[in-house]
Amino acid sequence: MAHLAMPETLPDGVCIFCAIAAEQADASVVYEDDTAVAFMDLFPVTPGHLLVVPRAHAIDLEDIDPATSAHVWSVGHGLARALRRTGIRCEGINMLVCDGEAASR
Ligand SMILES: [Zn+2]
Repeated sequence: MAHLAMPETLPDGVCIFCAIAAEQADASVVYEDDTAVAFMDLFPVTPGHLLVVPRAHAIDLEDIDPATSAHVWSVGHGLARALRRTGIRCEGINMLVCDGEAASR
């Protein structure tokens, strides 16, 4: 599963996704470029559960320009295809975009 999820805020007020993107928080990063960062979910729903997030802070889709959104989706697409080539049992892949806190529950 690869999805764009709501960032949580650390006790010091820093967004956890921004902290990961800035290498200020631990994460198992599987991909990164100038626009997006992908890492293993800390609480995976299933083996291979990845989060793909924009490097620039965003709370919801209103904060992301279409080019960034397309790029994040493209990274997720590539990682989903790569996941099929790993040894992880994978009969299917969900790609999910959570826009807004209610969508992340
Ligand atoms: Zn952030």
